[in-house]
Amino acid sequence: MGQGREGGRPMSTRPPADHAALIENLRDFIDTEVIPREDLKAAHDGQAVDRVAAELYAIARSRGLGAPRGRPEDGGLGLSWTECCAYLEQAGRSFLGPHALRCGPPTQPDMFALDKLATPAQRQRYLEPLLRGERKSCFAMTEPAPGVGSDPRMLLASARPDGDGWVINGHKWFITGAMKADFAIVVARTEAGPSWFLVDADTPGYQIVRDIPTLEPFDLGGHAEIKLTDCRVGPDALVGEQGQGLAHSQLRLEGARLFHCMRYIGLASRAMAIAQDYATRRESQGVKLAELQMVQAMVADAHIQLYAARTMTLDVARRLDAGESIRHHSSMAKVFVAEAVNQVADSAVQICGALGVSEDTPVSMIFRMLRPFRIYDGASEVHRSAIAKRALRHGLAA
Ligand SMILES: Cc1cc2nc3c(=O)[nH]c(=O)nc-3n(C[C@H](O)[C@H](O)[C@H](O)COP(=O)(O)OP(=O)(O)OC[C@H]3O[C@@H](n4cnc5c(N)ncnc54)[C@H](O)[C@@H]3O)c2cc1C
Repeated sequence: MGQGREGGRPMSTRPPADHAALIENLRDFIDTEVIPREDLKAAHDGQAVDRVAAELYAIARSRGLGAPRGRPEDGGLGLSWTECCAYLEQAGRSFLGPHALRCGPPTQPDMFALDKLATPAQRQRYLEPLLRGERKSCFAMTEPAPGVGSDPRMLLASARPDGDGWVINGHKWFITGAMKADFAIVVARTEAGPSWFLVDADTPGYQIVRDIPTLEPFDLGGHAEIKLTDCRVGPDALVGEQGQGLAHSQLRLEGARLFHCMRYIGLASRAMAIAQDYATRRESQGVKLAELQMVQAMVADAHIQLYAARTMTLDVARRLDAGESIRHHSSMAKVFVAEAVNQVADSAVQICGALGVSEDTPVSMIFRMLRPFRIYDGASEVHRSAIAKRALRHGLAA
């Protein structure tokens, strides 16, 4: 049995046959329980989505499935990052899979970061209820212009010392999960630099302004605009080291990106499976679409792209398990996977014709779900710029 580590806690890896059985169990769960409960017409009803997710979690637990990275005592499976690749790909084939298995954003990356950074008291109050699914979190960094977006140095939210605590003021938006979150990890500037604070959603001065409608089809907690006005928190609200908020955000993002890559490979693969099925049934000019070379080229390219995307994701996961820095490689993988899954979903829409843009199949919703991934977790252009600068500065071989 191999051993990796996370937050000082050993993560065991399973014998390959056990892992294969786990993945097969999950594949069957997604096909027979989760996908049949995806009610595309009720996708915007957040309460209905949550009800279904809770029902599915109970079924998942009865089948020995659960949060892939969580501790066994909290209903988690304690998988290594490498083992997560196949697990997240299967879970990600459904819009509801990651939500039902408690491995979707922002919960999963918030748990990962708090596991590394939280004090014993913060673990007890925030992380443990999060792991048990009793509380929900969100991560609040991005601000409307002229505040922080792609450039972390533009952070405007501030936290000033007040007595033994802090007073936070700021304006945040596109905060995933905030509509249902019990607390937020807020990034705000102190004299020492950007810092992380835990802010309960019922703190006076913490206000949800609105849920911002986006391309994303399913309501999994919304993307909210938030205002913090003279929001007072105690000394124990500071997470990690004061002034290290950007390093903490980087730590959180690296795992988050990888999980997004894994999940979205699953979603893109599902879109192409639907397109392939359509191509084998639909005829044009007396032949099946599947016999037309231009359609075949789209299918072949999708397979090549997803194979490359899986391989890159797995390589980054192995590096993470080995305790290596993944900054450069996770940037490269994020750009490639985000663009590959978008191209695959676009081809799936194209092959399905008008049906592909309808909501009669999940294909158009998959296309919408994947498009923002080229923007969040670092826009492709920002990653390309960082990759090139590192390569040129350090003389890295391509
Ligand atoms: C669905 C969704 C969910 C999100 N969830 C969260 C969340 O939970 N928490 C949170 O804090 N934020 C969240 N965000 C915000 C996300 O992190 C930001 O959108 C992202 O950081 C980019 O910032 P921006 O939107 O302000 O784009 P801008 O900074 O305005 O950039 C716009 C575009 O300009 C180009 N660009 C910008 N800078 C450069 C550069 N240096 N070099 C080359 N080109 C550049 C890129 O093409 C970029 O897409 C979410 C966004 C979306 C769409």
